[in-house]
Amino acid sequence: MKKLLQEILKEKKTVGIAGHVRPDGDCVGSCVGLYLYLTREYPEIKTDVYLEEVPAQFLVLKGTDQVKNQAVDQVYDLFISLDCGSPDRLGFAEEMFRNAKTTLCVDHHISNLGYARENYVVPDASSTSELICRMIGSEGLDREIAEALYVGIAHDTGVFLYSCTSPETMEVAADLLRTGLDANALIDHTYYSKTYIQQQILGRALLESMFLLDKKCIVSVITKKVMNFYGAKASDLEGIVSQLRNTTGVEVAIFLHELDSGEFKVSLRSNGLVDVSSVAQYFGGGGHVRAAGVTMQGSVHDVINNLLRKIAPQITEEDGEKA
Ligand code: 5GP
Ligand code: MN
Ligand code: MN
Repeated sequence: MKKLLQEILKEKKTVGIAGHVRPDGDCVGSCVGLYLYLTREYPEIKTDVYLEEVPAQFLVLKGTDQVKNQAVDQVYDLFISLDCGSPDRLGFAEEMFRNAKTTLCVDHHISNLGYARENYVVPDASSTSELICRMIGSEGLDREIAEALYVGIAHDTGVFLYSCTSPETMEVAADLLRTGLDANALIDHTYYSKTYIQQQILGRALLESMFLLDKKCIVSVITKKVMNFYGAKASDLEGIVSQLRNTTGVEVAIFLHELDSGEFKVSLRSNGLVDVSSVAQYFGGGGHVRAAGVTMQGSVHDVINNLLRKIAPQITEEDGEKA
């Protein structure tokens, strides 16, 4: 895999890197991890990294202060898309990606159709950060690169808990740990630690959640009005849907939050029975079998009803088989 990177960087003078809109830990970790590696190993290449606003807890990672939030009018020799299942998920960076002389995509979304010139897409991989580790190899690591990639892997695996955590994930994590990083402090700071606002809005979402589909499905909604009341940003809602999924007996958790446009950002989580990626893809989104998302229009009731129409058959099919 190191070959892929060496080959593709040959004779390149400018490289752009970008991740998906509303960046999460894996997106930030893989983007700055690769950025740090390229600037260290290929100082002759001018490398830029682009992301929407980086959530505050990730600012401890080296390289996050170099992230650019706005597109520039430049034709890159190579543009690298990380952790993005489809090009529209690049947001403001999509145009730079489309204009680049050549492109690479490194990703692990099952919904990814391979939209770049070169694609390193492994749906079984825990995270894009794990794939970046495999690309640069253990000898390519230093402590700061390892910190970014460790945070990325930890976030997409629920701290090495979700079923996407493989023996390879743990092997890569061991290489990262060997750089001497302080895993406890990093994960506490970026994953577990929550602001008071985040805790309050999590509580509100849990309090107002409802069971549907014979308690196999749990739904909660946070409107713009509620977000304004708490002074919460979209990034303050991270983790709510996982907490909903932890409810005993639940197969699918649905969490909606209203966007400024009046549309709803939908987060779906499954405990394995239901393929939520297929549900999200049906409505134009994507993701993984157990974690997926989409943006939908209509009233809360319309959105929930439409989602349930696609989820219910997957749950009853299973009931039917058991009967
Ligand atoms: P989350 O619910 O945390 O926003 O996203 C869960 C997973 O689904 C992530 O892997 C994320 O990249 C993917 N995802 C979320 N929203 C969308 C979307 O609108 N389109 C696509 N293609 N993927 C999404
Ligand atoms: Mn992501
Ligand atoms: Mn990811």
